[in-house]
Amino acid sequence: MAGALTVVVGCMFAGKSEELLRKMKRAEIAGLRPLLVKPALDTRGTAERICSRDGRCMDAISVRSAADILAAADPYDIVGIDEAQFFDDGIVAAVRMLYAAGKRVIIAGLDTDYRDEPFGSTHFLMAIPEADVVKLRAVCMRCRGEATRTFRKSRNDAKVVIGDADTYEALCYTCHVAAVQQRDAEP
Ligand code: ZN
Repeated sequence: MAGALTVVVGCMFAGKSEELLRKMKRAEIAGLRPLLVKPALDTRGTAERICSRDGRCMDAISVRSAADILAAADPYDIVGIDEAQFFDDGIVAAVRMLYAAGKRVIIAGLDTDYRDEPFGSTHFLMAIPEADVVKLRAVCMRCRGEATRTFRKSRNDAKVVIGDADTYEALCYTCHVAAVQQRDAEP
């Protein structure tokens, strides 16, 4: 029997990890065995906890590659993947295999980077025919409207700059356009 697949996307500060953890906890309460993984950016194979900004936490393991998710997933019923945009492109085949093996898979990740370009393989995960896509929005940190974009405060143009509220803001379209103009006009 095939599994189930949910992909939770949106800009930073939209509550993606909260939604992932909420779904994982709910499945755990129902008696399913959960495995939560995140990409290892500088550590390998370590036990960790993933905590959302609202203070909810769950044990997780960090893995170096999408293949490592498959290797770890066998005894579990439900597999949660956080920060999916940082995995190698093997993540798409791995998720398809988990689904085919009857696992429930819940993925959280950024669909676009700070330039509004596709981030990692998230958009290919969203395109899997059986995926339920949940697209979340944050609150615009300038006008309190609906934020859809991740604004990088610095002019560092590396694709990946790890940071939180010190480095990024969630902004609506209009505030984002203004913020980019203002940032890039600074000497
Ligand atoms: Zn705004």
